[in-house]
Amino acid sequence: MSDYDIVVVGAGMVGSAAAAVFGQRGLRVAVVEARMPQGDLNDGKIDLRVSAISRASQELLQQVGAWQNIDSKTISPYGEMRVWDADVPPESADVVHFDAADIGEPELGFIIENRRIQDALHRCLNALPSVVLFTPCSVEDLTRCDDAIAVRLDDGRKLKARLVIGADGARSRTRELAAIATRGWSYEQKAVVTHVTTSNSHRETAYQRFLTDGPIALLPLYDGRSSVVWSTTPGHADELLALEQESFCRRVEEATDAVLGRVTHSDRRAAFPLQLLHAVDYVRPNLVLIGDAAHAVHPLAGQGVNLGFADVRKLGDVCREVDTLELGDLSVLRRYERERKSENLLMMGSVDALNRLFRADTPLVGRARQVGMSLFNRIPPLKHAIIRRAMKGGQ
Ligand SMILES: Cc1cc2nc3c(=O)[nH]c(=O)nc-3n(C[C@H](O)[C@H](O)[C@H](O)COP(=O)(O)OP(=O)(O)OC[C@H]3O[C@@H](n4cnc5c(N)ncnc54)[C@H](O)[C@@H]3O)c2cc1C
Repeated sequence: MSDYDIVVVGAGMVGSAAAAVFGQRGLRVAVVEARMPQGDLNDGKIDLRVSAISRASQELLQQVGAWQNIDSKTISPYGEMRVWDADVPPESADVVHFDAADIGEPELGFIIENRRIQDALHRCLNALPSVVLFTPCSVEDLTRCDDAIAVRLDDGRKLKARLVIGADGARSRTRELAAIATRGWSYEQKAVVTHVTTSNSHRETAYQRFLTDGPIALLPLYDGRSSVVWSTTPGHADELLALEQESFCRRVEEATDAVLGRVTHSDRRAAFPLQLLHAVDYVRPNLVLIGDAAHAVHPLAGQGVNLGFADVRKLGDVCREVDTLELGDLSVLRRYERERKSENLLMMGSVDALNRLFRADTPLVGRARQVGMSLFNRIPPLKHAIIRRAMKGGQ
């Protein structure tokens, strides 16, 4: 049995960031990952999985030295965001316009491929002498023993640690082995993703239009194209996936009110089922959940991985205050849970409410929405407060 201070299960973006935070402090960290990303970052392509990264997440990535590992040409900053309802034209005064310049900031955030963030973090981990990566391996069993947890891997090896961090995503095996229940529901929506070429420049602006089946977003990519995230009913999503290129481009053009002119080309397409999921507890003695293992949220506000990075920051802060032997103490871990649960619930509740509000298709709700959006535009302090909150990424 090999001894560690911490075992992190899952080397996705969130688990890797956690391993980097603790590895930098010289703690002995084992990272267990079932499937490392394949492929070549220099393949000249932009992967379909991209994320809007908040300024707060950028700071965390900078602190662990990962931001510096991302090729700056592949980071796409966005300074503005336009959000509007299906009932109003994109040039209407009722379009909600967020502008980083209004609060004296250079940008609202950045669009980056998930695989580049993950690779940048893995390069940090490889450079840390106290971090060991076990891959391809998955966790088979967890047993609590003497104020530590023994972790049995599927290849038979055993690791022991004061603290096990479950960062193994929405279908977390760690959560299941710790018998932590979840609450939530399926949105009966799928997100169709692709990248499109448009006749007009995106001008480093993100767009989101709310349709009755769900929102469609255009996120600016570094090669001039825009990433499409179209949340819609499962049946409609399947239909969109099956369309010929030309018909699909016309559908995106219509759905986005041709805000970027003609859609002239689309990349391959994929779809992801959407759900809201929240772990009833984030902690057990010697065990903690972070990222999607603790909470999965609708992508409409682009906050999922940002909430995960905020978990990492908070867990790092509470553990900094204690001795290594106390890392797994429930009283320490509860401090993390209290703070992150309330922040995550607030964000999940707001995102869920937005999704419901815009899907409600009655004239009264439609009118109320328009009045709300128009008022929102006319109250700069409220708008600026919301921009600042979004930039903090749920912290
Ligand atoms: C369409 C779409 C768009 C999105 N856009 C955004 C956005 O713009 N901004 C944003 O902030 N968020 C966005 N999100 C959410 C974001 O992608 C997730 O929140 C994020 O990927 C979660 O990261 P994670 O590391 O917690 O989990 P995951 O990415 O799921 O990583 C979990 C890791 O654990 C490994 N693993 C799983 N089981 C085991 C096991 N038993 N043993 C060992 N390893 C295991 C997996 O292989 C994986 O590497 C979006 C989501 C979707 C679906």
